[in-house]
Amino acid sequence: MRLSLFDDYRLGVWGRDETIVDITDLLDAVVRPMDRMNALIERWDELSSVIAPAQHTVGRALDTVTLRAPQPRPTKIVGAPANHAGHQQEMIRDGGFADRPDTIEKYAGFLKAPSSIVGPDATIVLPYPDRRVDHEAELGVVLGRRARHVMRHQALDYVFGYVPLLDITMRGDEDRPFRKSFDTFTPIGPAIVTADEIADPSLLELQLHVNDELRQQGRVAELIYGVARLIEVYSAAMTLEAGDIIATGTVEGVSRLHDGDRVRLTISGLPPLVIGVTASEHVAPAT
Ligand code: MN
Repeated sequence: MRLSLFDDYRLGVWGRDETIVDITDLLDAVVRPMDRMNALIERWDELSSVIAPAQHTVGRALDTVTLRAPQPRPTKIVGAPANHAGHQQEMIRDGGFADRPDTIEKYAGFLKAPSSIVGPDATIVLPYPDRRVDHEAELGVVLGRRARHVMRHQALDYVFGYVPLLDITMRGDEDRPFRKSFDTFTPIGPAIVTADEIADPSLLELQLHVNDELRQQGRVAELIYGVARLIEVYSAAMTLEAGDIIATGTVEGVSRLHDGDRVRLTISGLPPLVIGVTASEHVAPAT
């Protein structure tokens, strides 16, 4: 199933013929709109069989609704740094990590602020004109239930679904969580595809275009730590809650974004994420 939030954060499942079927009323009315995906995930065992038939019906045309970030309220986003040999090499070549030519085995992970999440209805905002900000094309993993000390071979049982995710990153010497947590730096969407449709996430292929030019191309199988290993490593350190998101790491081909760009992330089996880029007028505070 493909699940989205749309318009006033109403909950929807994608139906036939490029439509979305409103399933908001299946939830308790006291759930706040931006917590609706969390409520659905928590009650998925009970509600999935109720929702499933709706995907075979016709709802409102997708191009007549505003698609929001499908999960705007995780307790955290955990990111996988330098999780691809080709991406690590390009960072060394660019000098961004010249003194730190290491990979995920050393860095393990970082946290991104959930407030950086936006959906396809928004625009990536470049904070400062003199700083390089890159796109990182990634598979996002949404947890389906609380995970703590989960072993690799059981880890995929904890996945609710998958979502196209851009780990937008300002290059520089600040800590990763700072450089990756600016508002709008985690676009996700337009839908979460439930895990039952993706038996093996390593088979997924990613492509990222900027203004119709292919910039990134790769396979999840090329990641140094795959999805199951990431869940094992992160759940050994911290409790992953239902609805939390893992940014699994980018493939090679990252490049700088510019005002007016249009980014398109396509992952096989998932609907594409398309989002624009704009420049902020703000000036960086003195440090
Ligand atoms: Mn990344």
